[in-house]
Amino acid sequence: MQRLYITNTLTRKKEEFKPLHAPLVGLYVCGPTVYSDVHLGNCRTFMSFDMIYRYLLHLGYKVRYVRNITDAGHLEGDRDEGDDKFAKKAKLEQVEPMEIVQKYTVGFHEVMQAFNNLPPSIEPTATGHICEQIEMVKEIMANGYAYESNGTVYFDVEKYSKAFNYGQLTNRKLEELLEGTRELSGQDEKRGRLDFALWIKAKPETLMKWPSPWGWGFPGWHIECSAMSSKYLGDVFDIHGGGMDLQATHHTNEIAQSQACKHKAPVNYWMHTNMLTVNGVRMSKSAGNGFLPQELFSGDHPLLEKGYAPMAVRFFMLQTHYSSTLDFSNEALQASEKGYERLMDAYTTLQQLKASDKSTEDIAALQQKCYEAMNDDFNTPVLIAHLFDAVRIVNSVNDGKLQLTEKDIALLKKMYQDFVFDVLGLKQHAESSKHTQALEKVMEMVIEIRAKAKQEKNFPLSDAIRDKLTAAGIQIKDGKEGSSWKL
Ligand code: AMP
Ligand code: ZN
Repeated sequence: MQRLYITNTLTRKKEEFKPLHAPLVGLYVCGPTVYSDVHLGNCRTFMSFDMIYRYLLHLGYKVRYVRNITDAGHLEGDRDEGDDKFAKKAKLEQVEPMEIVQKYTVGFHEVMQAFNNLPPSIEPTATGHICEQIEMVKEIMANGYAYESNGTVYFDVEKYSKAFNYGQLTNRKLEELLEGTRELSGQDEKRGRLDFALWIKAKPETLMKWPSPWGWGFPGWHIECSAMSSKYLGDVFDIHGGGMDLQATHHTNEIAQSQACKHKAPVNYWMHTNMLTVNGVRMSKSAGNGFLPQELFSGDHPLLEKGYAPMAVRFFMLQTHYSSTLDFSNEALQASEKGYERLMDAYTTLQQLKASDKSTEDIAALQQKCYEAMNDDFNTPVLIAHLFDAVRIVNSVNDGKLQLTEKDIALLKKMYQDFVFDVLGLKQHAESSKHTQALEKVMEMVIEIRAKAKQEKNFPLSDAIRDKLTAAGIQIKDGKEGSSWKL
């Protein structure tokens, strides 16, 4: 097994990845809140974790990848205030909240498929795990870290902080965190400014509510991830991920809940992906710069000069390390589009490379470099740089400037399969790969006819074929081992 290093947000160090029960790996990623369409920023996070999942699979791990669907309990403010996002949208669209959930869950899946993200092993929903969440709240209360106040249950952050380090994930002390919150008024139900709701009392007009020991209500946002991750991955598991924006509140509270419940740190490696920005501003619905994947594919948005194919967008995303910010621009996307096409064109060329009896290039060393890049905290930009080395080699061999043996050509094909298709999750456009395959067959036939014409000394025909192909942008090259072609 390769030695893989991961930047652990919890320790702020790059650490060797040692799964608890190798070859099994437990991976949990916070999924979407399905009250509206996912924007491209959300997609970046899910694509990053898809690449991470794919590489772990490629290394031979048996990964249980759990990515939840938040379909209840997410209030507008991250700190328990405002309306329920689903109920608000349902009122606006005059439908049932579960119609909202269904519509946007289906939309989310379509987008994930368009970007060639693999489905997770389990995709649990918050509404499907109300009992588990209630049980967990009861346990936290029994351990003395939560209290009920008028039908709502709050997590007692100050009490928890006496036993555990609440600000550990963002490396902040309790006093610093307190500075960032508002004073409590006499009206507040919670005791401490940092306390957050585990269970929220339903108002008469609340649409999505369930019975509980504290009356009718619904779960707080953070408890669902603690309950579902421990249900499917155990009280302590390997990797937990999400976007960086979740680190300070959602993930900090997840750790607190699980620890207050089981007295164990729930996660060994925390991974956070960085944000997609537009002109330096984080992409989000509220900033009005959150265009949708469909708009990106069609080009139908004021910020877009044209439409971009999903695979070119995926390539654009993976050209930047997951932990760096990535700024969207038409120029950057158009450059990625060209890069992606070059990578795919070289794959077509690779299929018909002619082998020599010696290699001028060290393909095994190049393959090793690809592994080194990925083992260094999933460094996809460096991996892609090595893949472009492979592209250069393929094109030079095709031009007769470099040579490769049969074995090395086979190794290059394997590298493409492993890194380009399996790990980066790129694929040839369905249309273009269909056309490419058909073109390959047709060219095989044309080359055969031309070889036959030459054999029969019908040179006017063989020359005419060559000239007509040249006029169509296809170059024929005659060599010792027969003819080859390139666009
Ligand atoms: P949400 O549906 O808002 O809960 O977000 C789903 C996921 O997308 C979370 O992991 C967020 O951290 C992530 N996310 C939200 N905005 C962005 C962005 N601009 N760039 C990258 N990831 C984002
Ligand atoms: Zn979560």
